[in-house]
Amino acid sequence: MREGQGQRPVEAERTSVSVAEARELILGSVAPLGIETVGLAEATGRVLAEEVVAGVWIPPSDNSAMDGYAVRAADTERAPVTLAVGEDLPAGKRSQRKLLPGEAARIMTGAAMPEGADAVVMVEDTETEGSRVRIHKAASLGQHVRRAGEDVRPGTRIAGPGAVLRAPLCGMLAALGRALVAVRARARVAVLATGDELVEPDRLRDDGRIASSNSYALCAALREIGAEPVYLGIAPDEPAEIEARFRAALACDAVISTGGVSVGDRDWIKQVLLGLGGEMRLWRVAMRPGAPLAFVRVAGKPVFGLPGNPVSTYVTFEQFVRPSLLRMMGHTNVYRPVVSARLDADYAKPAGRAHFVRVALESRAGEPWARVAGEQGSNILLGLVRADGLAFVPAETTRLARGERVPVQLLGGESLSSEPGI
Ligand code: AMP
Ligand code: MG
Repeated sequence: MREGQGQRPVEAERTSVSVAEARELILGSVAPLGIETVGLAEATGRVLAEEVVAGVWIPPSDNSAMDGYAVRAADTERAPVTLAVGEDLPAGKRSQRKLLPGEAARIMTGAAMPEGADAVVMVEDTETEGSRVRIHKAASLGQHVRRAGEDVRPGTRIAGPGAVLRAPLCGMLAALGRALVAVRARARVAVLATGDELVEPDRLRDDGRIASSNSYALCAALREIGAEPVYLGIAPDEPAEIEARFRAALACDAVISTGGVSVGDRDWIKQVLLGLGGEMRLWRVAMRPGAPLAFVRVAGKPVFGLPGNPVSTYVTFEQFVRPSLLRMMGHTNVYRPVVSARLDADYAKPAGRAHFVRVALESRAGEPWARVAGEQGSNILLGLVRADGLAFVPAETTRLARGERVPVQLLGGESLSSEPGI
């Protein structure tokens, strides 16, 4: 049975749209999730959802930047001089009394300066003489002293909504004494594989069936961006079963299915989603790999019906799902970085669809070159394993000569850009 033969419900389908249109349409329809308060240790990589203003002094008091002796600089003017050693001040201990003229206090890095002291002489410039210390060099006023509040003072604005909680910010929040932090919720994303031919990897036998690699690639891709995959297993190509799984999936913030979205006899995804009251926003994007791609809103949730071929699944996830989920989790920089590289062989294609070409990057004479990473079939996963990025060849382009520059979307690393770049 084929589309348009009258045996299936009429669908509100659109014809093929461009990559840029699809991106705009999809990203324009997702909104940030709610805000929750989490422990600082769980906040890594999440997006801040509050203003953080310091309420404390960091450091809390003037303290020593060196292991050595706290002194009155004036007492060392005529160095070498010998001073009596009074208190011993390890880090964390507060001085109990004022430093007297002619006196030094042994002090460790980070320990608060005793009252009366105004400089630190590092231990390398001293020599112990019983209960006294010989100071070899005159100290200048304030030498090796870290000032109270030189890092942060009460009222300093630290960060605001939209900031990503990377390591330094997590450290700063801890320094401020914050144990809890308000962040955007992580997206819980249902992952559903569909296909009678699929088995879990541990059930792979020589019986003609294949492992559902998409399930694992997608769950990994979700974890990489801090989303929470909710794996719903493999559904057979049976509408009732697919529908039951989608109903369960709709408890999540977003749903990704793979396979069954094309025009084959056993491709049920679109029909099932429409049956669930879904509003079909998009089907078919003018791109390769990955043309059939259903974006449907069901009960207010975004549902991505991705194509089944593993490379199509991953490339469409990269272009549309990943940025959408990042946006839902509060990020503004949702796109992969794009670099310009020279193509290392001619490339020809028909006009009509944009191509995402798996390429390996190498530097030649200080310039990046893009080498096509093996076969480009949408089922060839190894090319993706070996690729550093996806070179973008626009829909209308039919020829690229060796040495021409192409934009390459980098697949490793973190999102850096607020613009798609391709
Ligand atoms: P479909 O769109 O369902 O016809 O799937 C297209 C191709 O992708 C078929 O060769 C499927 O076997 C394959 N495929 C579908 N789902 C998966 C999956 N989860 N993992 C690996 N390959 C898949
Ligand atoms: Mg299938």
